[in-house]
Amino acid sequence: MRRPIIAGNWKMNKNIAETKALVSELIPLVKDAEAEVVICTPYTDLYTAVELTKGTNISVGAENVHWAESGAFTGEISASMLTEIGVKYVIIGHSERRQYFGETDETVNKRVIAALNAGLKVIVCVGETLEEKEAGKTEDVVTTQTIAAFKDVSSDKIDDIVVAYEPVWAIGTGRTATADDANATIKVIRDTLAKVFCPACSEKIRIQYGGSMNPKNAHDLMAQPEIDGGLIGGASLKAVDFSMVVKY
Ligand code: PEP
Repeated sequence: MRRPIIAGNWKMNKNIAETKALVSELIPLVKDAEAEVVICTPYTDLYTAVELTKGTNISVGAENVHWAESGAFTGEISASMLTEIGVKYVIIGHSERRQYFGETDETVNKRVIAALNAGLKVIVCVGETLEEKEAGKTEDVVTTQTIAAFKDVSSDKIDDIVVAYEPVWAIGTGRTATADDANATIKVIRDTLAKVFCPACSEKIRIQYGGSMNPKNAHDLMAQPEIDGGLIGGASLKAVDFSMVVKY
């Protein structure tokens, strides 16, 4: 009932020439995919990626967005600047933003509200650090982050919401959560969404797993009932690898 969604997170990789090469290679590889396909690129590649993917089954996303419409926010990009060039998705609250750029649950919530109001679809990242996992706090952390991210968000926006469960210790490390553990934590997130929105709403919201997902482990992860997709970092930088995850 929930259509799988596989999204690439390029992070701070690929210049315009590399974007043209990667997207051109990817288009034919994923054209028959059953899953929804999204690529999230650096700001400087967005326009090129949008132009190249017009008329294809690939949507383009940004990796962050500011909550203000305009103003004195040097270095920031607003939601309407993204929609103006045809961007459809935006990643919000990635652990690298939380870790290195002062992102908090409160600023995640402000970005989510601004993005949804502007007509963007959001991929909201939640997940525990290794320290939190070892202290047995995984459920508490994802529950708190989920509640905070969607504070004051109306349930009529649920079609535009994707959540990515990304255990921080699994990102870029080659360590993956077991399919069972990822499924169990995603169930906790879904139960939380049921309380934040409504039980029927939470059944409609797609929840991805992210953290060293690749062509080898994608099938097992995607076979889990609660896992509706993947947010893919490293493996999204090569067209063949990403297409294999898309077709898990
Ligand atoms: C990510 O950056 O969201 C991610 C999951 O990265 P990787 O796939 O490289 O672990």
